[in-house]
Amino acid sequence: MSDYLIGLGNNDSKTRKKADEDFVTFWADQAKNLHWFERWHDILQWDPPFGRWFVGGKINASYNALDVIVQKNPAKTALLWEGKDGESRVITYHDLWIEVNKFSNVLKSLGVQKGDRITIYLPMVPELLVSMLACARIGAIHSVIFSGFSAKSIKDRVEDSGSKIVITADGGFRRGNVIKLKETVDEAISGLDFVQNVVVLERAKIPIIMSSKDKKWSDLMKYASPDCEPEKLESTHPLYILYTSGTTGKPKGVLHGTGGYLTHLYSTFKWIFDIRDSDVYFCTADIGWVTGHSYVVYGPLLHGATQVMYEGAPDFPTHARMWEIIQKYKVTIFYTTPTALRMFMKFGDGIPNSYDLSSLRLLGTVGEPINPEVWKWYYDVIGKKKCPIVDTWWQTETGGAMITAVPGLETIHLRPGSATRPIPGVDIAVVDEAGNEVAPETKGYLVVRKPWPGMLLTLWNDDEKYKLAYWSKYKTSYYSGDYSIKDKDGYLWMLGRADDVLKVAGHRLGTAELESGFVSHKSVAESAVCGIPHDVKGEAIIAFVVLRDGYSGSETLKNEIILHIRNVIGPIASPEQLYFVTRLPKTRSGKIMRRLLKAIAKGDEIGDISTLENEAAVSEVQIAFEEVKQSIKKNYTK
Ligand code: ATP
Ligand code: MG
Repeated sequence: MSDYLIGLGNNDSKTRKKADEDFVTFWADQAKNLHWFERWHDILQWDPPFGRWFVGGKINASYNALDVIVQKNPAKTALLWEGKDGESRVITYHDLWIEVNKFSNVLKSLGVQKGDRITIYLPMVPELLVSMLACARIGAIHSVIFSGFSAKSIKDRVEDSGSKIVITADGGFRRGNVIKLKETVDEAISGLDFVQNVVVLERAKIPIIMSSKDKKWSDLMKYASPDCEPEKLESTHPLYILYTSGTTGKPKGVLHGTGGYLTHLYSTFKWIFDIRDSDVYFCTADIGWVTGHSYVVYGPLLHGATQVMYEGAPDFPTHARMWEIIQKYKVTIFYTTPTALRMFMKFGDGIPNSYDLSSLRLLGTVGEPINPEVWKWYYDVIGKKKCPIVDTWWQTETGGAMITAVPGLETIHLRPGSATRPIPGVDIAVVDEAGNEVAPETKGYLVVRKPWPGMLLTLWNDDEKYKLAYWSKYKTSYYSGDYSIKDKDGYLWMLGRADDVLKVAGHRLGTAELESGFVSHKSVAESAVCGIPHDVKGEAIIAFVVLRDGYSGSETLKNEIILHIRNVIGPIASPEQLYFVTRLPKTRSGKIMRRLLKAIAKGDEIGDISTLENEAAVSEVQIAFEEVKQSIKKNYTK
C-alpha cells in the first residue's frame, strides 16, 4: 500500500482526539470559525430523531459567504465562469456581493418574506449562485431544481414546496442545443395559482412569451439598490429544500438548516481540500445536486476560494473539455464523480495525456463507490501519481461529507476503492439487522449513531416520512440505506445500496463489489448488476456491461468476462446472464438506476423515472431498456 501513502504534510492529531472526547464541544469550536451575529445558548438540542444545532445563535449564510470575504479581500476572484462554448466571465467576491444585494432587494420588492420558498430552475450560470445567496440573505428558503428536469418534475417540486416565486431563464444550452426553460416552467406552473411571479434571466436570448406574472431579470436589476442588510436568522432557520436524486425511489424533499450545515461545510471543505489562497478549485457537479449546493456554493465561498464554474457538458463539444479547462485555468483541485471518470477512461488515455495537467495537486470523487480500477486510472493518468484522491461518502441528507480522507488535517494511507475513515466528530458504524456493530470484515448496514451538524432538519412538510425513512429501522441511529464493510484497520468500503444487495446461495453480495469485479476486466468500461429470483440459488445475478471504446461484444468476450469475475470474486459471482449494452440507465445526477434494470428483468412496472437523465437521454434510455427487455425475452424463451 505504500504506493498510496499520501498526505500533504499536515499532521494534526489534536483535532481528532478532541472530537473523540466530546463531539458536541468539538463542533461548537468549529462553529466559532463562522461569523455569528449572536452566540447560541445550546450547542445541541437532541430530541431524537430531531437534532438542532447552535440553538439561539443568529447567523446569515450569505453574510458568511460574501461579506466576511469582501471585508478582507474584495478583489479576490470567486468565479472563473466558463461558458459552454469558451465564453468566460471573471467574477470577484465584490462583484458577487453587489449582485446578491441587488437581487435580495428585487426579491423583497416582489413581496418575498422570511420563510417563503423560492424555486430556482436555472442553468449553470453565476445568476444561479446569486439567486441562492439572495434567498439566504433575506431568509427565504431556496429549492433548486436541476435544469434538465421536465415540466412534470418541476410541477411536483413547486407544488410540494409551495414556492411563490420561480426563477428561471429564457433558455439554457445542452450539447449544442437550446433548451427552452421558460416554456417548460410555463407548462409546469399552469394551474398553480400560488406562484405569484416568474423571474426570467435572459441567458439564451431566444424569443419568449411573457405573461403578467413574468418579470425580466435585467429589468428588475436595473434600479435595484446594491445594499441589503442580511437578516439575522436563527441557526435552525431552514436554508434550503433539496430533492434527492431518486436513485432508489421517489425523491425526498430534504430540509437543511443554517448554522449546523454551514459549520459542517466550513470544516469539511478545509479538512478535505486543504484549501489555500492560491488554489483554483473545480467541482464538476451541477448546483442542482447536493454536491453543488455544498461544495460549489457554500463550502468554497465560506473560505473565499477561487473556483471554476462550468456551464456545459463534460464531454462536449469534445472528449477533452475537462482537461482543456484544467489546463486553461491551472486548476489545482478537481472534484468529480466515478461515472464521469469511467466515461473519460472509456475514451482512452491519449486525450488527457495530451494536456498539461501539472497544476493539479488534489483529486476527489463523490456520488457512487469508485471502482479500484477507476481509482488507479484517476491516480495514474490524471494525477500523475502525485495527487491524493479523496473519495468522499455522503448524502443529500447528511449535508456534507461524512467518510473521507482529510489530507488538510492528517496523513493517511489511501486504499483504492475505500472512502477511508469517518471525519472527526461523526460516529459511523456498520451494524447487523438488530443494530449491533458487526465484527471487522463483516458486511452490514451503515448507520450514524450520533447527531452531526450537517444533518437534515426533516423532510419538507413530512416529519412522519422523515422518521420512517431514516429512523425506523434503528431507533437511535440514522439509517443511511447503504451497505458497507469495515476492514480491520477501520477503513470503510461502500458496497452499494442496501436495497440492491443480492442474496446468492446464502451469500450477501453488494452491487459495488460485483460491478468493480466486472470493471477490472480490460474491456469493461461500466457495469451494473441486479438480482432476479432463482429457484436454487435464491437470487441469480444479471450483469449489464458497457465496453470500452475499441471492443465489441461477442460470445468469446462474454465467456472471458465471466471467467474473469469467477477468478476475482469467486464462482458465486458468476452471472446467470450477461448483456452487452451501449449505455446504462442513470439518474440525472449520474448514478446507475439499478432498480430500473431489476424491474425490467423481472417484467415489473418501472415506476417513477422522473429523475432519469436529461430530456434527450430519456428516450435513448427507454430504447436501451427495450433492447435489454428483448434480449432477456429471447433468452428466457430459448
Ligand atoms: P435517493 O435517496 O432518492 O435514492 P440518492 O441516494 O441517489 O437518491 P444522493 O443523496 O445524491 O441521492 O446520493 C447519496 C448516495 O450516493 C449515498 O447513499 C451512496 O449510496 C452514494 N454515494 C455518494 N458518495 C459515495 C461514495 N463516495 N462512495 C460510495 N457511495 C457513495
Ligand atoms: Mg439516498
